[in-house]
Amino acid sequence: MNEKNFQLNIANIFPPSLWSFRNQEIVYQDLKRFTYLEFYDRVRRLSSALLKIGVKKGDKVAVLDWDTNHYMESYFSVPMIGAVLHTVNIRYPPEIIFYTMQHAADKFVIVRDEFLPMIERSAQLFDFVKGWIIYSDEKGEIRTSLENHYNYDEMLESSEPIDPPDIDENTPATIFYTSGTTGLPKGVTFTHRKLVLHAQALAVGLSYSPLNINEKDVFMGLVPMFHVHSWGVPYLTIMTGHKYVLPGRYDVKRILELIKKEHVTFSHMVPSILYMILTHPEVEDYASYLKGWKVVIGGAALPRGLAKMAEKFGIITVGAYGMSETCPLLTAATFTEEINSLSKEERFDYMISTGRPAVLVNLRVVDSIGKDVPWDSRTIGEIIVRAPWLTDEYYLDPEKTEELWRDGWLHTGDLAVVDSKGFIHIVDREKDAIKSGGEFIPSLVLENIISEIPEVGEVAVVGKKDEKWGERPIAFITLKNKVSKEYIIERLMKFVETGRIQKWWIPDDIIFMDNLPKTSTNKIDKKELKKML
Ligand code: AMP
Repeated sequence: MNEKNFQLNIANIFPPSLWSFRNQEIVYQDLKRFTYLEFYDRVRRLSSALLKIGVKKGDKVAVLDWDTNHYMESYFSVPMIGAVLHTVNIRYPPEIIFYTMQHAADKFVIVRDEFLPMIERSAQLFDFVKGWIIYSDEKGEIRTSLENHYNYDEMLESSEPIDPPDIDENTPATIFYTSGTTGLPKGVTFTHRKLVLHAQALAVGLSYSPLNINEKDVFMGLVPMFHVHSWGVPYLTIMTGHKYVLPGRYDVKRILELIKKEHVTFSHMVPSILYMILTHPEVEDYASYLKGWKVVIGGAALPRGLAKMAEKFGIITVGAYGMSETCPLLTAATFTEEINSLSKEERFDYMISTGRPAVLVNLRVVDSIGKDVPWDSRTIGEIIVRAPWLTDEYYLDPEKTEELWRDGWLHTGDLAVVDSKGFIHIVDREKDAIKSGGEFIPSLVLENIISEIPEVGEVAVVGKKDEKWGERPIAFITLKNKVSKEYIIERLMKFVETGRIQKWWIPDDIIFMDNLPKTSTNKIDKKELKKML
Protein backbone atom coordinates (compact mmCIF):
# COMPACT_ATOMS: atom_id res chain seq x y z
CA MET A 1 0.00 0.00 0.00
CA ASN A 2 1.20 3.52 -0.80
CA GLU A 3 1.96 5.13 2.60
CA LYS A 4 1.11 8.56 1.25
CA ASN A 5 -2.39 7.37 0.50
CA PHE A 6 -3.79 7.79 4.03
CA GLN A 7 -6.48 5.22 4.70
CA LEU A 8 -9.74 6.14 6.38
CA ASN A 9 -9.64 3.06 8.56
CA ILE A 10 -10.81 2.53 12.10
CA ALA A 11 -7.31 2.18 13.58
CA ASN A 12 -6.46 5.67 12.34
CA ILE A 13 -9.08 7.16 14.67
CA PHE A 14 -6.79 6.47 17.63
CA PRO A 15 -3.52 8.41 17.24
CA PRO A 16 -4.89 11.98 17.45
CA SER A 17 -7.44 10.89 20.04
CA LEU A 18 -4.78 9.39 22.33
CA TRP A 19 -2.59 12.44 21.83
CA SER A 20 -5.19 14.77 23.31
CA PHE A 21 -7.55 12.60 25.37
CA ARG A 22 -5.42 9.76 26.73
CA ASN A 23 -6.80 10.09 30.24
CA GLN A 24 -10.42 10.37 29.20
CA GLU A 25 -12.57 7.52 30.52
CA ILE A 26 -14.72 4.66 29.29
CA VAL A 27 -17.01 3.35 32.00
CA TYR A 28 -19.10 0.17 32.09
CA GLN A 29 -21.85 0.40 34.73
CA ASP A 30 -20.14 0.52 38.13
CA LEU A 31 -18.04 -2.48 37.14
CA LYS A 32 -15.20 -1.23 34.95
CA ARG A 33 -13.40 1.99 34.21
CA PHE A 34 -10.58 2.46 31.70
CA THR A 35 -8.69 5.46 30.40
CA TYR A 36 -8.52 5.75 26.61
CA LEU A 37 -4.90 4.62 26.85
CA GLU A 38 -5.87 1.48 28.81
CA PHE A 39 -8.79 0.91 26.46
CA TYR A 40 -6.53 1.11 23.40
CA ASP A 41 -4.16 -1.35 25.02
CA ARG A 42 -7.06 -3.80 25.50
CA VAL A 43 -8.22 -3.23 21.92
CA ARG A 44 -4.78 -4.08 20.55
CA ARG A 45 -4.50 -7.13 22.82
CA LEU A 46 -7.87 -8.42 21.64
CA SER A 47 -6.79 -7.92 18.01
CA SER A 48 -3.65 -9.89 18.72
CA ALA A 49 -5.55 -12.65 20.56
CA LEU A 50 -8.02 -12.95 17.67
CA LEU A 51 -5.17 -13.38 15.19
CA LYS A 52 -3.64 -16.02 17.47
CA ILE A 53 -6.77 -18.18 17.46
CA GLY A 54 -6.94 -18.02 13.67
CA VAL A 55 -9.20 -15.11 12.76
CA LYS A 56 -8.40 -14.18 9.16
CA LYS A 57 -9.09 -11.16 6.97
CA GLY A 58 -12.72 -11.20 5.86
CA ASP A 59 -13.86 -13.62 8.61
CA LYS A 60 -17.08 -12.61 10.32
CA VAL A 61 -16.76 -12.27 14.08
CA ALA A 62 -20.15 -12.07 15.78
CA VAL A 63 -20.89 -10.46 19.13
CA LEU A 64 -23.79 -11.38 21.41
CA ASP A 65 -23.83 -8.90 24.24
CA TRP A 66 -25.50 -5.88 25.81
CA ASP A 67 -23.69 -2.52 25.78
CA THR A 68 -20.46 -3.36 27.60
CA ASN A 69 -16.77 -2.52 27.43
CA HIS A 70 -16.23 -5.90 25.76
CA TYR A 71 -18.59 -4.84 22.98
CA MET A 72 -16.89 -1.48 22.65
CA GLU A 73 -13.50 -3.20 22.39
CA SER A 74 -14.72 -5.50 19.63
CA TYR A 75 -16.01 -2.47 17.68
CA PHE A 76 -12.36 -1.63 17.11
CA SER A 77 -10.36 -4.87 17.54
CA VAL A 78 -12.27 -6.92 14.97
CA PRO A 79 -12.21 -4.51 12.00
CA MET A 80 -8.67 -3.41 12.86
CA ILE A 81 -7.35 -6.81 11.72
CA GLY A 82 -9.47 -6.85 8.56
CA ALA A 83 -12.19 -9.10 10.01
CA VAL A 84 -15.87 -8.15 9.88
CA LEU A 85 -17.81 -7.42 13.07
CA HIS A 86 -21.31 -8.91 13.07
CA THR A 87 -23.38 -7.13 15.70
CA VAL A 88 -26.10 -9.69 16.40
CA ASN A 89 -29.52 -8.38 17.40
CA ILE A 90 -30.01 -10.30 20.64
CA ARG A 91 -33.58 -9.11 20.94
CA TYR A 92 -34.64 -11.16 17.93
CA PRO A 93 -36.28 -14.50 18.74
CA PRO A 94 -33.59 -17.27 18.90
CA GLU A 95 -34.52 -18.74 15.49
CA ILE A 96 -33.95 -15.34 13.84
CA ILE A 97 -30.68 -14.85 15.76
CA PHE A 98 -29.53 -18.23 14.42
CA TYR A 99 -30.74 -17.37 10.91
CA THR A 100 -28.65 -14.19 10.82
CA MET A 101 -25.57 -16.00 12.17
CA GLN A 102 -25.96 -18.73 9.55
CA HIS A 103 -26.59 -16.23 6.79
CA ALA A 104 -23.47 -14.25 7.73
CA ALA A 105 -21.55 -17.56 8.26
CA ASP A 106 -19.90 -16.22 11.40
CA LYS A 107 -16.54 -17.92 11.93
CA PHE A 108 -15.97 -16.75 15.51
CA VAL A 109 -18.41 -15.57 18.15
CA ILE A 110 -17.82 -13.35 21.18
CA VAL A 111 -20.57 -14.20 23.62
CA ARG A 112 -21.59 -13.05 27.08
CA ASP A 113 -22.27 -15.97 29.48
CA GLU A 114 -25.94 -15.02 29.72
CA PHE A 115 -26.48 -16.09 26.08
CA LEU A 116 -24.58 -19.38 26.34
CA PRO A 117 -27.58 -21.59 27.26
CA MET A 118 -29.47 -20.40 24.16
CA ILE A 119 -26.49 -21.30 21.95
CA GLU A 120 -25.69 -24.56 23.76
CA ARG A 121 -29.24 -25.82 23.23
CA SER A 122 -28.79 -25.52 19.47
CA ALA A 123 -25.02 -26.09 19.23
CA GLN A 124 -25.47 -28.56 16.33
CA LEU A 125 -26.62 -25.67 14.10
CA PHE A 126 -23.29 -23.90 14.40
CA ASP A 127 -20.90 -26.24 12.59
CA PHE A 128 -19.57 -23.19 10.69
CA VAL A 129 -18.29 -21.56 13.92
CA LYS A 130 -14.60 -22.25 14.59
CA GLY A 131 -14.35 -20.69 18.01
CA TRP A 132 -16.45 -19.25 20.85
CA ILE A 133 -14.93 -16.45 22.87
CA ILE A 134 -16.81 -16.24 26.14
CA TYR A 135 -16.83 -13.85 29.03
CA SER A 136 -18.73 -13.05 32.18
CA ASP A 137 -19.09 -10.10 34.54
CA GLU A 138 -18.66 -12.61 37.37
CA LYS A 139 -15.23 -13.77 38.50
CA GLY A 140 -14.24 -17.44 38.20
CA GLU A 141 -14.52 -20.20 35.66
CA ILE A 142 -17.23 -20.03 32.98
CA ARG A 143 -18.78 -23.41 32.31
CA THR A 144 -19.93 -24.30 28.81
CA SER A 145 -20.56 -27.43 26.80
CA LEU A 146 -19.43 -25.64 23.61
CA GLU A 147 -16.30 -27.01 22.04
CA ASN A 148 -13.47 -24.72 20.92
CA HIS A 149 -14.11 -22.07 23.47
CA TYR A 150 -11.75 -19.39 24.77
CA ASN A 151 -11.96 -17.07 27.74
CA TYR A 152 -12.01 -13.45 26.53
CA ASP A 153 -10.25 -11.92 29.50
CA GLU A 154 -7.62 -14.66 29.78
CA MET A 155 -6.91 -14.31 26.05
CA LEU A 156 -6.42 -10.60 26.52
CA GLU A 157 -4.06 -11.01 29.46
CA SER A 158 -1.87 -13.52 27.67
CA SER A 159 -1.54 -11.49 24.44
CA GLU A 160 0.83 -8.70 23.53
CA PRO A 161 -0.75 -5.56 22.04
CA ILE A 162 -0.16 -5.44 18.28
CA ASP A 163 0.51 -2.49 16.03
CA PRO A 164 -2.58 -2.44 13.85
CA PRO A 165 -1.94 -3.29 10.19
CA ASP A 166 -2.76 -0.59 7.65
CA ILE A 167 -6.12 -1.87 6.41
CA ASP A 168 -7.44 -0.65 3.06
CA GLU A 169 -10.31 1.75 3.77
CA ASN A 170 -12.65 -0.11 1.41
CA THR A 171 -12.42 -3.31 3.45
CA PRO A 172 -15.76 -4.38 4.96
CA ALA A 173 -15.76 -3.61 8.70
CA THR A 174 -19.25 -4.46 9.93
CA ILE A 175 -22.39 -6.37 9.08
CA PHE A 176 -25.74 -6.43 10.85
CA TYR A 177 -29.33 -7.26 10.00
CA THR A 178 -32.27 -4.90 9.61
CA SER A 179 -35.22 -4.98 11.96
CA GLY A 180 -37.14 -6.98 9.34
CA THR A 181 -40.61 -5.44 9.40
CA THR A 182 -41.50 -7.64 6.42
CA GLY A 183 -40.00 -11.07 5.86
CA LEU A 184 -36.60 -12.17 7.13
CA PRO A 185 -34.04 -9.56 8.24
CA LYS A 186 -31.66 -8.40 5.53
CA GLY A 187 -27.91 -7.95 6.01
CA VAL A 188 -26.24 -4.58 5.50
CA THR A 189 -22.49 -4.03 5.41
CA PHE A 190 -20.25 -1.02 5.96
CA THR A 191 -16.58 -0.47 5.15
CA HIS A 192 -13.96 1.29 7.29
CA ARG A 193 -14.18 4.35 5.04
CA LYS A 194 -17.95 4.57 5.47
CA LEU A 195 -17.74 4.31 9.26
CA VAL A 196 -14.94 6.86 9.59
CA LEU A 197 -16.59 9.41 7.30
CA HIS A 198 -19.90 8.85 9.04
CA ALA A 199 -18.35 9.49 12.47
CA GLN A 200 -16.84 12.68 11.14
CA ALA A 201 -20.18 13.78 9.72
CA LEU A 202 -21.73 13.20 13.15
CA ALA A 203 -19.08 15.46 14.66
CA VAL A 204 -19.77 18.20 12.12
CA GLY A 205 -23.53 17.73 12.65
CA LEU A 206 -23.17 18.19 16.39
CA SER A 207 -21.28 21.43 15.86
CA TYR A 208 -24.32 22.84 14.02
CA SER A 209 -26.83 21.40 16.43
CA PRO A 210 -28.64 23.47 19.04
CA LEU A 211 -27.25 21.11 21.71
CA ASN A 212 -23.99 23.03 22.13
CA ILE A 213 -21.87 19.94 22.70
CA ASN A 214 -18.55 20.80 24.33
CA GLU A 215 -15.56 19.05 25.89
CA LYS A 216 -17.31 18.74 29.26
CA ASP A 217 -20.11 16.61 27.87
CA VAL A 218 -20.33 13.01 29.05
CA PHE A 219 -21.91 10.61 26.57
CA MET A 220 -24.08 7.58 27.27
CA GLY A 221 -25.56 5.88 24.22
CA LEU A 222 -29.01 4.36 24.62
CA VAL A 223 -29.26 2.86 21.16
CA PRO A 224 -28.12 -0.74 21.53
CA MET A 225 -24.67 -1.51 20.18
CA PHE A 226 -26.19 -4.27 18.05
CA HIS A 227 -28.29 -1.73 16.14
CA VAL A 228 -26.58 0.37 13.44
CA HIS A 229 -23.34 0.64 15.50
CA SER A 230 -25.32 2.54 18.14
CA TRP A 231 -25.69 5.14 15.35
CA GLY A 232 -21.90 5.39 15.10
CA VAL A 233 -21.63 7.27 18.39
CA PRO A 234 -18.95 4.98 19.93
CA TYR A 235 -16.65 5.80 16.96
CA LEU A 236 -17.58 9.49 17.16
CA THR A 237 -16.83 9.56 20.88
CA ILE A 238 -13.31 8.24 20.56
CA MET A 239 -12.73 10.74 17.76
CA THR A 240 -13.96 13.71 19.77
CA GLY A 241 -12.62 12.57 23.14
CA HIS A 242 -15.66 12.43 25.40
CA LYS A 243 -16.16 10.28 28.45
CA TYR A 244 -18.33 7.32 27.38
CA VAL A 245 -20.65 5.46 29.73
CA LEU A 246 -21.86 1.96 28.83
CA PRO A 247 -25.08 0.96 30.61
CA GLY A 248 -25.10 -2.81 29.84
CA ARG A 249 -28.62 -4.14 29.51
CA TYR A 250 -31.09 -1.25 29.56
CA ASP A 251 -32.71 -0.93 32.95
CA VAL A 252 -34.30 2.43 33.58
CA LYS A 253 -33.37 2.65 37.25
CA ARG A 254 -29.73 1.82 36.42
CA ILE A 255 -29.74 4.36 33.58
CA LEU A 256 -30.98 7.04 36.00
CA GLU A 257 -28.32 6.05 38.53
CA LEU A 258 -25.58 6.27 35.87
CA ILE A 259 -26.80 9.69 34.75
CA LYS A 260 -26.50 10.82 38.36
CA LYS A 261 -23.22 9.14 39.26
CA GLU A 262 -21.29 9.70 36.02
CA HIS A 263 -22.80 13.14 35.29
CA VAL A 264 -24.09 12.08 31.87
CA THR A 265 -25.08 15.09 29.77
CA PHE A 266 -25.62 13.66 26.26
CA SER A 267 -27.50 10.60 24.99
CA HIS A 268 -29.19 9.32 21.87
CA MET A 269 -32.16 6.95 21.69
CA VAL A 270 -35.50 6.09 20.08
CA PRO A 271 -38.58 7.90 21.50
CA SER A 272 -39.88 4.87 23.46
CA ILE A 273 -36.74 4.75 25.62
CA LEU A 274 -37.12 8.41 26.56
CA TYR A 275 -40.79 7.76 27.33
CA MET A 276 -39.84 4.81 29.58
CA ILE A 277 -37.34 6.97 31.45
CA LEU A 278 -39.72 9.91 31.93
CA THR A 279 -42.53 7.68 33.20
CA HIS A 280 -40.39 5.63 35.59
CA PRO A 281 -41.96 5.76 39.09
CA GLU A 282 -38.77 7.21 40.61
CA VAL A 283 -37.94 9.71 37.88
CA GLU A 284 -38.77 12.72 40.08
CA ASP A 285 -35.97 11.71 42.49
CA TYR A 286 -33.50 12.23 39.62
CA ALA A 287 -35.06 15.45 38.27
CA SER A 288 -32.09 17.63 39.22
CA TYR A 289 -29.70 15.34 37.29
CA LEU A 290 -31.90 15.32 34.19
CA LYS A 291 -31.91 19.09 33.92
CA GLY A 292 -29.86 20.14 30.89
CA TRP A 293 -29.58 16.55 29.56
CA LYS A 294 -29.04 16.81 25.77
CA VAL A 295 -30.88 14.08 23.91
CA VAL A 296 -30.90 13.20 20.22
CA ILE A 297 -34.01 11.27 19.24
CA GLY A 298 -34.15 9.27 16.03
CA GLY A 299 -35.24 5.93 14.62
CA ALA A 300 -38.83 7.17 14.72
CA ALA A 301 -40.48 10.57 14.75
CA LEU A 302 -40.10 12.54 17.99
CA PRO A 303 -43.69 13.23 19.08
CA ARG A 304 -44.26 16.83 20.12
CA GLY A 305 -46.03 15.65 23.30
CA LEU A 306 -42.96 13.67 24.37
CA ALA A 307 -40.61 16.57 23.60
CA LYS A 308 -42.82 18.83 25.76
CA MET A 309 -42.83 16.28 28.56
CA ALA A 310 -39.01 16.22 28.41
CA GLU A 311 -38.88 20.02 28.37
CA LYS A 312 -40.66 20.08 31.75
CA PHE A 313 -37.62 18.25 33.17
CA GLY A 314 -35.29 20.73 31.47
CA ILE A 315 -34.20 18.06 28.95
CA ILE A 316 -33.27 19.39 25.51
CA THR A 317 -34.41 17.10 22.70
CA VAL A 318 -33.39 17.23 19.05
CA GLY A 319 -34.62 15.09 16.16
CA ALA A 320 -32.47 13.15 13.70
CA TYR A 321 -33.29 10.70 10.93
CA GLY A 322 -31.71 7.72 9.29
CA MET A 323 -32.10 4.01 8.76
CA SER A 324 -30.11 0.78 9.07
CA GLU A 325 -29.21 0.92 5.39
CA THR A 326 -27.74 4.43 5.77
CA CYS A 327 -25.27 3.87 8.66
CA PRO A 328 -27.66 5.70 9.81
CA LEU A 329 -27.20 9.49 9.71
CA LEU A 330 -29.11 11.32 6.96
CA THR A 331 -30.59 14.42 8.56
CA ALA A 332 -30.53 16.33 11.83
CA ALA A 333 -31.65 19.69 13.12
CA THR A 334 -28.93 22.09 11.96
CA PHE A 335 -29.33 25.54 13.42
CA THR A 336 -28.25 28.53 11.41
CA GLU A 337 -28.70 32.19 12.30
CA GLU A 338 -32.00 32.21 10.41
CA ILE A 339 -33.41 29.60 12.81
CA ASN A 340 -31.75 30.96 15.95
CA SER A 341 -33.46 34.29 15.46
CA LEU A 342 -36.95 32.75 15.53
CA SER A 343 -39.25 32.72 18.57
CA LYS A 344 -38.70 30.04 21.24
CA GLU A 345 -41.76 28.05 20.16
CA GLU A 346 -40.79 28.14 16.47
CA ARG A 347 -37.26 27.02 17.37
CA PHE A 348 -38.74 24.19 19.39
CA ASP A 349 -40.65 22.94 16.34
CA TYR A 350 -37.49 22.99 14.24
CA MET A 351 -35.54 21.16 16.92
CA ILE A 352 -37.95 18.25 16.94
CA SER A 353 -38.40 18.06 13.14
CA THR A 354 -36.55 15.57 10.95
CA GLY A 355 -34.00 18.30 10.26
CA ARG A 356 -31.92 19.04 7.19
CA PRO A 357 -29.39 16.89 5.29
CA ALA A 358 -26.19 16.19 7.20
CA VAL A 359 -22.83 17.14 5.69
CA LEU A 360 -22.13 15.19 2.44
CA VAL A 361 -25.66 13.78 2.30
CA ASN A 362 -27.21 14.41 -1.10
CA LEU A 363 -30.91 14.15 -0.41
CA ARG A 364 -33.95 14.66 -2.59
CA VAL A 365 -37.66 14.42 -1.94
CA VAL A 366 -39.25 13.31 -5.20
CA ASP A 367 -42.75 12.69 -6.52
CA SER A 368 -43.88 9.55 -8.37
CA ILE A 369 -42.21 10.67 -11.62
CA GLY A 370 -38.93 11.52 -9.91
CA LYS A 371 -39.38 15.30 -9.84
CA ASP A 372 -38.22 17.21 -6.75
CA VAL A 373 -41.18 18.44 -4.69
CA PRO A 374 -41.45 22.20 -4.00
CA TRP A 375 -40.55 23.50 -0.52
CA ASP A 376 -44.18 24.22 0.29
CA SER A 377 -44.79 22.04 3.41
CA ARG A 378 -47.57 20.33 1.48
CA THR A 379 -46.37 18.27 -1.47
CA ILE A 380 -45.45 14.78 -0.37
CA GLY A 381 -42.60 12.86 -1.97
CA GLU A 382 -40.23 9.98 -1.21
CA ILE A 383 -36.83 10.65 0.34
CA ILE A 384 -34.01 9.33 -1.84
CA VAL A 385 -30.34 9.74 -0.97
CA ARG A 386 -26.71 9.44 -1.93
CA ALA A 387 -23.92 9.73 0.64
CA PRO A 388 -20.46 8.25 1.23
CA TRP A 389 -21.63 5.86 3.97
CA LEU A 390 -24.72 4.10 2.61
CA THR A 391 -24.71 0.31 2.36
CA ASP A 392 -23.87 -0.86 -1.15
CA GLU A 393 -26.10 -3.89 -0.90
CA TYR A 394 -28.29 -6.23 1.01
CA TYR A 395 -25.84 -8.99 1.77
CA LEU A 396 -26.22 -11.88 -0.72
CA ASP A 397 -29.54 -10.51 -1.95
CA PRO A 398 -29.17 -8.92 -5.39
CA GLU A 399 -32.93 -8.67 -5.94
CA LYS A 400 -33.60 -6.63 -2.79
CA THR A 401 -30.45 -4.61 -3.49
CA GLU A 402 -31.85 -3.63 -6.85
CA GLU A 403 -35.10 -2.52 -5.22
CA LEU A 404 -33.16 -0.42 -2.70
CA TRP A 405 -30.85 1.23 -5.22
CA ARG A 406 -32.62 2.57 -8.29
CA ASP A 407 -31.10 5.04 -10.75
CA GLY A 408 -28.10 5.45 -8.48
CA TRP A 409 -30.17 6.63 -5.50
CA LEU A 410 -31.00 4.75 -2.33
CA HIS A 411 -34.79 4.73 -1.92
CA THR A 412 -35.76 5.08 1.73
CA GLY A 413 -39.49 4.38 1.39
CA ASP A 414 -40.08 7.36 3.71
CA LEU A 415 -42.58 10.02 2.67
CA ALA A 416 -41.95 13.63 3.56
CA VAL A 417 -42.68 17.28 2.86
CA VAL A 418 -40.13 20.09 2.85
CA ASP A 419 -40.84 23.48 4.42
CA SER A 420 -39.74 26.88 3.17
CA LYS A 421 -36.48 26.71 5.17
CA GLY A 422 -35.57 23.30 3.77
CA PHE A 423 -36.45 21.38 6.92
CA ILE A 424 -37.78 17.91 6.20
CA HIS A 425 -40.89 16.59 7.90
CA ILE A 426 -41.50 12.86 7.52
CA VAL A 427 -45.23 12.24 7.31
CA ASP A 428 -45.27 8.47 6.91
CA ARG A 429 -43.56 5.36 5.63
CA GLU A 430 -44.74 4.14 2.26
CA LYS A 431 -45.74 0.80 3.71
CA ASP A 432 -47.67 2.31 6.64
CA ALA A 433 -49.42 5.05 4.64
CA ILE A 434 -53.19 5.19 5.10
CA LYS A 435 -55.16 5.75 1.90
CA SER A 436 -58.74 6.82 2.64
CA GLY A 437 -61.18 7.63 -0.16
CA GLY A 438 -58.24 7.99 -2.55
CA GLU A 439 -56.58 10.56 -0.26
CA PHE A 440 -53.64 10.13 2.03
CA ILE A 441 -53.84 10.51 5.83
CA PRO A 442 -50.31 11.19 7.19
CA SER A 443 -50.17 8.97 10.26
CA LEU A 444 -47.07 10.64 11.77
CA VAL A 445 -48.72 14.08 11.64
CA LEU A 446 -51.81 12.67 13.31
CA GLU A 447 -49.76 10.85 15.97
CA ASN A 448 -47.82 14.01 16.67
CA ILE A 449 -51.00 15.95 17.34
CA ILE A 450 -52.59 13.21 19.46
CA SER A 451 -49.37 13.10 21.53
CA GLU A 452 -50.04 16.70 22.56
CA ILE A 453 -53.19 15.73 24.48
CA PRO A 454 -51.80 15.83 28.03
CA GLU A 455 -53.39 12.56 29.13
CA VAL A 456 -51.88 10.59 26.22
CA GLY A 457 -48.73 8.54 26.80
CA GLU A 458 -47.77 6.78 23.57
CA VAL A 459 -49.77 6.68 20.35
CA ALA A 460 -49.73 4.90 16.99
CA VAL A 461 -52.19 5.35 14.14
CA VAL A 462 -52.63 2.54 11.62
CA GLY A 463 -54.97 1.91 8.69
CA LYS A 464 -57.84 -0.58 8.92
CA LYS A 465 -59.45 -2.00 5.77
CA ASP A 466 -62.77 -0.33 5.06
CA GLU A 467 -65.30 -1.29 2.38
CA LYS A 468 -66.37 2.23 1.62
CA TRP A 469 -63.13 4.20 1.98
CA GLY A 470 -60.47 1.59 1.31
CA GLU A 471 -58.83 2.30 4.67
CA ARG A 472 -59.68 4.26 7.80
CA PRO A 473 -57.33 5.32 10.62
CA ILE A 474 -57.48 3.65 14.03
CA ALA A 475 -55.52 5.12 16.97
CA PHE A 476 -53.86 2.92 19.59
CA ILE A 477 -53.18 4.93 22.73
CA THR A 478 -51.69 4.39 26.17
CA LEU A 479 -52.84 6.82 28.82
CA LYS A 480 -51.02 8.68 31.56
CA ASN A 481 -54.38 9.58 33.13
CA LYS A 482 -57.66 7.86 32.43
CA VAL A 483 -59.97 9.59 29.93
CA SER A 484 -62.71 8.40 27.56
CA LYS A 485 -62.67 7.92 23.78
CA GLU A 486 -65.17 10.77 23.49
CA TYR A 487 -62.74 13.07 25.32
CA ILE A 488 -59.94 12.25 22.85
CA ILE A 489 -62.26 12.87 19.87
CA GLU A 490 -63.41 16.16 21.44
CA ARG A 491 -59.79 17.30 21.81
CA LEU A 492 -59.08 16.32 18.22
CA MET A 493 -62.07 18.37 17.07
CA LYS A 494 -60.35 21.38 18.67
CA PHE A 495 -57.31 20.72 16.42
CA VAL A 496 -59.73 20.54 13.46
CA GLU A 497 -61.09 23.98 14.42
CA THR A 498 -57.58 25.47 14.50
CA GLY A 499 -56.82 23.91 11.10
CA ARG A 500 -54.03 21.60 12.28
CA ILE A 501 -55.84 18.46 11.07
CA GLN A 502 -58.72 17.76 8.76
CA LYS A 503 -62.01 16.41 10.09
CA TRP A 504 -61.90 13.23 8.01
CA TRP A 505 -58.52 12.33 9.55
CA ILE A 506 -60.12 11.74 12.94
CA PRO A 507 -59.70 8.04 13.69
CA ASP A 508 -62.78 5.82 13.38
CA ASP A 509 -61.85 4.16 16.64
CA ILE A 510 -59.55 4.70 19.59
CA ILE A 511 -58.19 1.59 21.25
CA PHE A 512 -56.69 2.06 24.71
CA MET A 513 -53.84 -0.28 25.63
CA ASP A 514 -51.63 -0.69 28.71
CA ASN A 515 -48.53 -0.86 26.49
CA LEU A 516 -47.95 -0.62 22.76
CA PRO A 517 -46.04 -3.57 21.22
CA LYS A 518 -42.40 -2.75 20.44
CA THR A 519 -39.93 -4.07 17.84
CA SER A 520 -36.53 -5.52 18.76
CA THR A 521 -35.15 -1.99 18.56
CA ASN A 522 -37.85 -0.57 20.86
CA LYS A 523 -39.90 1.20 18.23
CA ILE A 524 -43.68 0.97 18.21
CA ASP A 525 -44.51 -2.13 16.18
CA LYS A 526 -47.18 -1.07 13.68
CA LYS A 527 -47.09 -4.44 11.95
CA GLU A 528 -48.22 -6.06 15.20
CA LEU A 529 -50.97 -3.45 15.66
CA LYS A 530 -52.23 -4.04 12.11
CA LYS A 531 -52.34 -7.76 12.84
CA MET A 532 -54.54 -7.02 15.87
CA LEU A 533 -57.01 -5.21 13.64
P1 AMP B 1 -34.37 1.18 11.13
O1 AMP B 1 -33.69 0.77 9.88
O2 AMP B 1 -34.97 0.04 11.87
O3 AMP B 1 -33.50 2.02 11.99
O4 AMP B 1 -35.61 2.09 10.71
C1 AMP B 1 -35.47 3.18 9.86
C2 AMP B 1 -36.80 3.84 9.66
O5 AMP B 1 -37.23 4.49 10.85
C3 AMP B 1 -36.78 4.93 8.63
O6 AMP B 1 -36.85 4.43 7.31
C4 AMP B 1 -37.98 5.76 9.03
O7 AMP B 1 -39.18 5.20 8.53
C5 AMP B 1 -37.97 5.65 10.53
N1 AMP B 1 -37.34 6.84 11.12
C6 AMP B 1 -36.08 7.00 11.54
N2 AMP B 1 -35.86 8.24 12.02
C7 AMP B 1 -37.04 8.92 11.89
C8 AMP B 1 -37.47 10.24 12.18
N3 AMP B 1 -36.68 11.16 12.73
N4 AMP B 1 -38.75 10.57 11.90
C9 AMP B 1 -39.60 9.66 11.36
N5 AMP B 1 -39.24 8.39 11.06
C10 AMP B 1 -37.99 8.02 11.31
